[in-house]
Amino acid sequence: MTSLAARLARPEILSLPPVDIAAQANDAFGADAIKLDANENPYAPLVEGSLAATVNRYPEPQPASLRRAMAALYGVAPESLVVTRGADDAIDILVRTFCREGRDAVSICPPTFSAYAQFARLQGARVVEAPLTATFDFDADAFLAAMGEVADLKLAFLCSPNNPTGNPIAPADVIRVAEALPDAIVVLDEAYIEFSELESLAAEAARRDNLVVLRTLSKAYGLAGARVGCAIGTAELIQLIARALPPYPLPTLSIQAALASLSPSRRSVHAERIERLKRERARVAGLLATSPIARNVRSGGGNFLFFEVDDPADLEAKLTALGIRVRFRPNAAPGGVRLSIGTEAENAVALAALGVTTGDQPARRGEVVRDTKETQVAVAVNLDAAGPRRIDTGIPFYDHMLDQVAAHGGFALTLACQGDLDIDGHHSVEDCAIALGQTLRQALADRRGIGRFGFALPMDEAEAQVLIDLSGRPYSVFEGDFAASHIGAYPTEMTPHVFRSLADSLGAAIHVKVSGANDHHKTEACFKAFGRALRQAVARDGEALPSTKGVL
Ligand SMILES: *Cc1c(COP(=O)(O)O)cnc(C)c1O
Repeated sequence: MTSLAARLARPEILSLPPVDIAAQANDAFGADAIKLDANENPYAPLVEGSLAATVNRYPEPQPASLRRAMAALYGVAPESLVVTRGADDAIDILVRTFCREGRDAVSICPPTFSAYAQFARLQGARVVEAPLTATFDFDADAFLAAMGEVADLKLAFLCSPNNPTGNPIAPADVIRVAEALPDAIVVLDEAYIEFSELESLAAEAARRDNLVVLRTLSKAYGLAGARVGCAIGTAELIQLIARALPPYPLPTLSIQAALASLSPSRRSVHAERIERLKRERARVAGLLATSPIARNVRSGGGNFLFFEVDDPADLEAKLTALGIRVRFRPNAAPGGVRLSIGTEAENAVALAALGVTTGDQPARRGEVVRDTKETQVAVAVNLDAAGPRRIDTGIPFYDHMLDQVAAHGGFALTLACQGDLDIDGHHSVEDCAIALGQTLRQALADRRGIGRFGFALPMDEAEAQVLIDLSGRPYSVFEGDFAASHIGAYPTEMTPHVFRSLADSLGAAIHVKVSGANDHHKTEACFKAFGRALRQAVARDGEALPSTKGVL
């Protein structure tokens, strides 16, 4: 039986030889294969360092490992997904697969993302507009009534959350539209879904023959410059649209960047960043509501806000003078402005230009990723928030210890490590300590306005004393010893090591003294006391640099 995709595809696409995506994978060859098949240059390019790695070779046409990683991320089988050069490219290949020039139509719901109409026009397809309501909502009844009149409708583009307005489309409405239009393919663009409360329809697209979902690593995963996205649909449809791809669409460096960013050690920091951007979106929207010039501020499901101003030219001049770029969207609404959510410091400058000033000091944050052959670590710290605390080193007792540091230190900590625990805990324990110290150092920046010194002296039968000077100079003293070799999977001998690593990477003098009977108590006392000492040392204390030398 012919699939819907094959019935709808252009004859030119059907006449191309089938693409066997799986057979294109380099999986079958080891890294040491002798490649004399592709007229590549055997020598690495003359660029420095990791950039040179393997770029003298062509990439896999459809990178198998990235395809698997993205399929796992979106909860579908690899056969249901084709990796594209950004979601933009997926729009292009869909249009080129299905739309015959001068005959077929696509529908769009303006105001919306401009690429749908752009690629359709390039292909010579008709663009039928079915506008959103006055409040930018999707009205399924009105949409279906309008589509009833359209001949040769091939692709119906729906964007949820919508760019530039942020409005979501209820998944039930998307399904309803797909059911009502069995001879067209509904393309649901979920480029911003990570920032919304919507449920993805990716798994639904993998089984429903007239639904395709688009996803991208550009927005939620910070990879816009790498150009990595995908289309998700039935295996038959994916095979067909892959015929419209250029020979090697994804550059090796992009594949590598995407794979590194999707490694399991990055998951919790990605999640924390998305939460952070959503909180910041709500905060900026609240502040913008008090702006003397912004009206109708919409905080939808994207990493951006949409609002209107009376005098966009005046605002543009002001923003340009300050070096701030935003998108003006007069076609969406008169005086329409789309403002992306940036860092707290960036948002503060944009808000000031819109007439909103707050005394808020941006939070002191640090973010570090650290990869070696032995471990992959990602850490995020916010010294000015008590949460979240999410720690996964792979060693439960160590998780508990680092949690004590953050809890008693009064700061937010997200830390995840994928390490060689099959060997033992040594590398994971040490590398997490190094990365945590680096992250704290980054968050402290020039160390202006901190207490600098901290000490603590608590505990029951065990007694731990920790003294800290955030001097910028590493120095570590540890007095105490442990009888047991391990607490759970945690090697007790690592405790002095952890504090030395922290001292080195944070740039601090850390003196620890511990005594007592029970190793569990003693170890916990060290970490708790360190947290307490750190709390005092990083506490905000005016604006001054706490050093007579003028530098720390
Ligand atoms: C940014 C954006 C895209 C494009 O994503 P890339 O993967 O960077 O090409 C697709 N759809 C919408 C609605 C967007 O805003």
